[in-house]
Amino acid sequence: MTKVIAVGGVAGGATAASQLRRLDPDIGITIYERYEEISYGSCGMPYHISGEVETRDSLVNMTPEKFKQKNIDVKTCHEVIAVHPHNNTVTVLDKKNNIEFIDSYDYLILSPGGSPRILPVLKDTPQTFSLNKIEDLDDLMAYIETHNISEALVVGSGFIGLEVTENLSERGISVTMLQHDDRIYKNIEADMNGMLYEAMNEHGITLKLNTEITKIDGETAELSNGETINAPLIISGTGISPNTGFLKSSGITLTDKGLIPINKNGQTNFDNIYALGDAAVTRYQHVPGLNMQSALAWPAHRLAHIIANQISGDSSITHEGFLGTNIVQFFDCHIASFGLSEREVADIPHFVVDQQQKNKSGYMKNAAPIRIRIYVDKKSGLILRAAVTGTAGVDKRIDVLAAHTRLGGTAFDLINIEVAYAPPFSSPKDVINMVGYKAIEKAKE
Ligand SMILES: Cc1cc2nc3c(=O)[nH]c(=O)nc-3n(C[C@H](O)[C@H](O)[C@H](O)COP(=O)(O)OP(=O)(O)OC[C@H]3O[C@@H](n4cnc5c(N)ncnc54)[C@H](O)[C@@H]3O)c2cc1C
Repeated sequence: MTKVIAVGGVAGGATAASQLRRLDPDIGITIYERYEEISYGSCGMPYHISGEVETRDSLVNMTPEKFKQKNIDVKTCHEVIAVHPHNNTVTVLDKKNNIEFIDSYDYLILSPGGSPRILPVLKDTPQTFSLNKIEDLDDLMAYIETHNISEALVVGSGFIGLEVTENLSERGISVTMLQHDDRIYKNIEADMNGMLYEAMNEHGITLKLNTEITKIDGETAELSNGETINAPLIISGTGISPNTGFLKSSGITLTDKGLIPINKNGQTNFDNIYALGDAAVTRYQHVPGLNMQSALAWPAHRLAHIIANQISGDSSITHEGFLGTNIVQFFDCHIASFGLSEREVADIPHFVVDQQQKNKSGYMKNAAPIRIRIYVDKKSGLILRAAVTGTAGVDKRIDVLAAHTRLGGTAFDLINIEVAYAPPFSSPKDVINMVGYKAIEKAKE
């Protein structure tokens, strides 16, 4: 019997295993997961802090027992500590019994994700938490309750920092956010993030820019600006590093950041070893010469589908790269983008189109501003990067732009996108169409 091993049992690993079982009822599948739980919705975890997600168990999609019913063998608390591609085996550590053993595979799927980077000053401080796995959420919730937490420090202003800040605040906890430099949420242009500052002001969030923690003394933190503040709870949101240390001597190619490059089939440099998720690096769909890492759930789910098809024998389903479409909510701010980073765009000759107007007919009572900026490739007219901000209708606009770009549409074609119009939804010249008109004019300059 053909045998598949998946390393990692959450977004990528569990999804690839389920898809594979759907396609092939007979193939042998084992998932090794180093922690207790599998197959949960990490993305929903911040929303349990506020109670928006009422129970933590509603985040859990599948259990080992449910996988057993699908004839998928799940070994939790089992860490794959080495891979031996030349004889198709892995070394596994059974963490509960402290026993090492060897298992063999015909195909190996690597979806080990990433681990939070914790600043040295915060290591071993009992009040510091990150939010990476569901056990982190359990620990955090227990700490908030048993310590009666009413104030917190959030370190970092990436999407996890923002989401956790919003949800702590919605829970009634007063939050101070620290950012080591002078710019928050770098997924969006510096001159488009003003609404985040306004929202912080409105909701009583204290933001300290250019500030780092220099020392923790009990429940107080000394800051680089000389202040000492209460820090009974600290959330660390300073990014992740790929969990690929166990691959270092395997012969599987890793980038200098420890990411696993994959080809259009999802394969690594070994034909029968596939990778996906936060630890994989691939390429942009619309600028194929450029590598990209998309540490998001959507790409993990798409690659799971592709890899499952490849392994079950359908080589026609391939990976065409990603746009990296992303969106975050911070109170009533919605911020979205896709495509190259601002830094990457700078290397390609382009022009910029910027448009701000109302998200629906301006005479409607609750019409709100929406802003779109696109970076247009001078040669091809393709949208290299798009950024959208507003309080309503942002998801619709970014999705239209991303779908259009994904299918090869240019900035000039945007005038022809038939945006569904009635006054409560848009306007006859929607912001999408307006950037198209402006792009046509700009290209003539
Ligand atoms: C708080 C939070 C909010 C998020 N919100 C969003 C969102 O709104 N939208 C979005 O698109 N994405 C979001 N994400 C990101 C998304 O969850 C990840 O991109 C996705 O989970 C990546 O899937 P993965 O399989 O690569 O890694 P994971 O889902 O992290 O799974 C990897 C698993 O592998 C296990 N593992 C690692 N090494 C080994 C080993 N050697 N042996 C055995 N097991 C191992 C790990 O323990 C882990 O359980 C969020 C993530 C977090 C943490």
